Amino acid sequence: MLDYLTEVHENIYLAEIPLKGNPLKSINIYIVKTDKGNLIIDTGFNTDEILDLTRSFIKDLDLDIEKTSLFLTHLHSDHTGLVNFYDDLGVKIYMGEVDGALHRDFMERYGNHWPKIESYGHMQGLDIDNLKIEDHPGFKYRPRKKFEYTPVNPGDHIELDTFDFEILDLSGHTPGMVGLYDKNKSILFCGDHILGKITPNIQFWGFDVGDSLGTYLSNLDKIKELNIKHLFSSHRFLVDDVNARIEDLKQHHRYRLDEATKAITEKDCTVRDVTKALQWDISAKNWDEFPKSQKWFAAGEAHSHLEHLRALGIADYYEDDNGVLHYFLVKN
Ligand SMILES: [Zn+2]
Repeated sequence: MLDYLTEVHENIYLAEIPLKGNPLKSINIYIVKTDKGNLIIDTGFNTDEILDLTRSFIKDLDLDIEKTSLFLTHLHSDHTGLVNFYDDLGVKIYMGEVDGALHRDFMERYGNHWPKIESYGHMQGLDIDNLKIEDHPGFKYRPRKKFEYTPVNPGDHIELDTFDFEILDLSGHTPGMVGLYDKNKSILFCGDHILGKITPNIQFWGFDVGDSLGTYLSNLDKIKELNIKHLFSSHRFLVDDVNARIEDLKQHHRYRLDEATKAITEKDCTVRDVTKALQWDISAKNWDEFPKSQKWFAAGEAHSHLEHLRALGIADYYEDDNGVLHYFLVKN
């Protein structure tokens, strides 16, 4: 077996695929392989190198592609980038209905999605950073063609041999991320909901989606109640003590919310100001050294915290003449 492939559970294999030049470092692609058929979970970016690795694990695991389906946990390009490869082979593809609908606009530069991301950057005060959508990893490594898929929703089931997967709502990281939960085996494929070591990025997804951090935190509590024994996350190492990791993640966000509150207590702040005031686990000394591609994610993360403070009645904002938002502390 290739050295990047490991059997992590009976009938479940993990292919660890490098994401070159990305702070995530790699993505974990899971393959459920049974006598009745196979299910691959997520794809990696749309690059030639990852396509080669995908062909290798299909061959190495001797997967009959006619009996193989693909499940996409969420719309991000490191999870969906190579979907056209599977679609061209006629593989049945499952994707959550909410993220699937948003993802339709990913292919077009001037469709519904990317101009929206630019407009968020503008309201966050990022214009002075001169960011280009062309440098956004989600744009660069996106799939290039539309594809056929079967939309799934929380509560639906996908059965495969002895596995009975329920679709779980894991929204927060994206507006419609979904996981696969086998209750009897206490297995959860959780996408980017809970990761070891790195904290999942929570973004601002627009005012219509609202408080994505609040949604994320309540979906963490929901998973805690399930007492998951076997958690299969999409990046880095496998988490042993799931509930302890959930507590770590909640603590991390409490700390960030405190930092953001402190920043707006001192003065009214743009999202960019707050982003600079937060501590980041990235090897850049200051904002100027921050990789451009990561500035989108950092500002979106800060913004989701400010919007959570707003949902709690702690913060509010006003929009200046240029359409930039300024957050301030609500005084009782
Ligand atoms: Zn993601």
